[in-house]
Amino acid sequence: MMKNKNLIIILSLTLSSCAAPTSSLETSQTSREGYIFYIDQDTYLHFSELDNKIILPTDEYGVPEYTNLLPNALREYRNGIHEGIDFSSPLNYPIKAVYGGIVIRSNNQHEDVDINTYNELLLTTEKLKKTPEDIYNFILLGKSIVIDHGYGITKKFRTVTVYAHLSSIPDEVKPGTRVAQGDIIGFSGNTGTSSGALRNERGAHLHWEIHFDDSKGRYFLGQNIPEELLYSNIIQLFENQVK
Ligand SMILES: [Zn+2]
Repeated sequence: MMKNKNLIIILSLTLSSCAAPTSSLETSQTSREGYIFYIDQDTYLHFSELDNKIILPTDEYGVPEYTNLLPNALREYRNGIHEGIDFSSPLNYPIKAVYGGIVIRSNNQHEDVDINTYNELLLTTEKLKKTPEDIYNFILLGKSIVIDHGYGITKKFRTVTVYAHLSSIPDEVKPGTRVAQGDIIGFSGNTGTSSGALRNERGAHLHWEIHFDDSKGRYFLGQNIPEELLYSNIIQLFENQVK
C-alpha cells in the first residue's frame, strides 16, 4: 500500500512538471505563432490580416526548411543578414510573379563585375560591418526584378517583391509593365554571386524577398520571428505551398 502511494506521488510530480508553465522566452516565442513579421505591439502582420495569399515564384520548388536559406540567416561574406528566401531552382528555371503588380525595377542590362572587383567590394562590407544598400542592389542582386503590389496583399502595408540572381529577363518586362500573378518575369541564374563573377554556371537559385512598408519603415518577411516558428509562419503567406 505504502509503495503504491509513493508511486502516485512520483507520478503526479512528473505530470505537474510537464504541465508547468514554460520559461518566459518560450512563452513569447509561442505568442508569435502565425506572424509574418513582428516588430512590436503596434507594428506586425499576422497571416489572418492577409487579404490575398501569394503563389510560389518557383512552381515545384517549395519554401526550404533549412534556416540558412530563410530570412534572418547570417550572410558573413557580405557582413549582413538574409532578408529573403533562397529557392533551390536550377539554372534557367522560369520565375513567376507571386502576385499582380507593376514592375518598378528591371535591370536587364546588368553584367557581372569580375571576381577581383567583386571581392574588393566585399572588403568594403567588412570595413563597414554591414552591406551598403548600393552594393547590395546594384552588384549583389545581379539581374533582378522588383514588383510593387500596392496594398493588394494586405491593407495594412504596401508590399514589394524582389527576384534576384536571374540569368535573363524577357524584354517586355521593364519598369511600368503590369504583371499578373503567375506571369513569367525572368529565369533563375547566379548573376550577382561569386559564381556569376567567375562566369561559371554554379550556384543558380532564386533569391526572393517580400517587404512591407508603412510610414515608419520597411519590414521583411520573418523579421523578429524565432527560428523554430520561421518556416511554419512563412508558409502561411503562400496559397500553393509545395515541399
Ligand atoms: Zn538569398
